[in-house]
Amino acid sequence: MTNENQEAPAASTQETHTPSNFLHDIVAEDVRTQKYGDAQVQTRFPPEPNGYLHIGHAKAICLDFGLADEFGGKTNLRFDDTNPEKEEQEYVDSIQEDVRWLGFEWDRLCYASDYFPQLYAWALQLIKDGKAYVDDLSADEIRRHRGTLTEPGTDSPYRTRSIEENLDLFVRMKNGEFPDGSRVLRAKIDMASPNLNMRDPVMYRILHASHHRTGDEWCIYPMYDYAHGQSDSIERVTHSMCTLEFADHQPLYRWFIENLGIFPSQQIEFDRLNITYTMLSKRKLLQLVNEKRVSGWDDPRMPTLSGLRRRGFTPEAIRTFVAAAGVSRTNGSTDIEMLEHFQRDDLNHRASRAMAVLHPLKLVIDNYPAGQEESVEVANNPEDPSAGTRQVPFSREVYIEQDDFREIPPPKYYRLSPGKEVRLRNAYFITAQSVVKGPAGNIVEVHCTYDPASRGGNSPDGRKVKSTMHWVSAAHAISAEIRLYDKLFSKPDPYDLEEGQDVLDNLNPNSLEILTAAKLEPSLASAKAGDRFQFERVGYFCVDPDSIPGNLVFNRTLPLKDSWAKIEKKAGA
Ligand code: ATP
Ligand code: MG
Repeated sequence: MTNENQEAPAASTQETHTPSNFLHDIVAEDVRTQKYGDAQVQTRFPPEPNGYLHIGHAKAICLDFGLADEFGGKTNLRFDDTNPEKEEQEYVDSIQEDVRWLGFEWDRLCYASDYFPQLYAWALQLIKDGKAYVDDLSADEIRRHRGTLTEPGTDSPYRTRSIEENLDLFVRMKNGEFPDGSRVLRAKIDMASPNLNMRDPVMYRILHASHHRTGDEWCIYPMYDYAHGQSDSIERVTHSMCTLEFADHQPLYRWFIENLGIFPSQQIEFDRLNITYTMLSKRKLLQLVNEKRVSGWDDPRMPTLSGLRRRGFTPEAIRTFVAAAGVSRTNGSTDIEMLEHFQRDDLNHRASRAMAVLHPLKLVIDNYPAGQEESVEVANNPEDPSAGTRQVPFSREVYIEQDDFREIPPPKYYRLSPGKEVRLRNAYFITAQSVVKGPAGNIVEVHCTYDPASRGGNSPDGRKVKSTMHWVSAAHAISAEIRLYDKLFSKPDPYDLEEGQDVLDNLNPNSLEILTAAKLEPSLASAKAGDRFQFERVGYFCVDPDSIPGNLVFNRTLPLKDSWAKIEKKAGA
């Protein structure tokens, strides 16, 4: 029997406040010293709409919204939509849905594309100030001029263009007079800077592409580094949290803001969330979708929020997990078992119990009158008495799990075997008597006798049994498709690769198993997409949207076994 209730350490799942960390300390100090005067704490969550959100984004969301909330501030949802070729409305919609599902409501809904006119005006200002120039070098030549970590870059021959010429060319770039890639606008900073990002970074490129919001209005698009800080500044973002890979960009973030003399938003970096056996990169997740390695962005094996939702994960557990995983200034990796642990703990408290037999074996109770049936009363959730009870039908033939019977029991096998007495949960004690075998020698039926005095699952003479098994009355059972999921990748670090391998070579070939013979108690017939259950002794399950009346599909969220609690126990925690 799974003893999940005792194994799971108490973890509050209602818990969403941000624990103290260095980000919290920075904001607290800025508030204390009134760094921004009377301005409120303002944060933003800035996804690029080029894919669905994953659980790594959930960390950023919890930090952005959580910190603002804690200091009475506000958070904008801002789409960083400066890359028209990869961005789509579908992603914009899914991102909003997922942020709300996670439990957050933004103050303003913003788009970097709304700032294109302002960004353009600021670019003109930088040109007029002699701080930006139009470069005719090709992308390749620019790369070659950039230098290396040990060698300084070399100036472009176009670096000394006059302000007038730069203004003229940039306006004509904007007016669509030049083909894609023929010119760029660059900031004039320092080609010898030890920070490569400061070696005259590109601000604008020419791209005749339709944008999902601005259509064909623009054929020049700002680069991330030029758009992001200025967008923050426009929204008067006080604390612009982002992941560590942007740390080297911070001097550039500041350079634009200082040279434009605009609201001084500050960028602060934190570590990316990485989780074992999965991968948090939209680009790679898109590849899984495009190559049909999964059924879509919301495939229940995906680490996307939509995939986790479909799998049966809850926003509460994800928030608790993200808070427990913590935040730091060095990248690391978090065990997937920790996420699973918090999810089990949450579902243990809230999921209704039901009985379902995944691999059915028929059990015939020979001394139970044929044609008779009765109902036994079962608690809906032993963890939550307010969830009430339900009536489950019982009759002469029931299904049990194939694993719960052994004709020749191995040592310490306490479940059913010939001559052995066990409890059918909430029903009766039964004793196995004989088996019926098919032509191939496989067991097709087990015959047993029951003790009518043990109704409800206890014998008045105090007799004990070593095992309690779930069951489903054969005459009343409903069938359903069951989808069992395992880890998406077969290695803890999917990027642990042999020479010449791609990360997708590490996909777990057995991450999905579909069962079609499962037998479920009849109360489940009315379950709706998204409903979550604990199938007793088996695991947590969630009704998939593929379900149609009479043909339900259940996704296994997680099996019951709490390997995280075991790991913790082993570690002596
Ligand atoms: P990906 O590499 O998956 O495409 P991204 O950083 O390009 O991610 P964005 O849409 O630009 O995705 O991210 C929006 C915000 O989420 C950014 O502030 C980014 O730093 C943050 N973020 C993205 N991935 C993670 C992660 N794994 N852990 C924490 N924060 C993340
Ligand atoms: Mg990005």
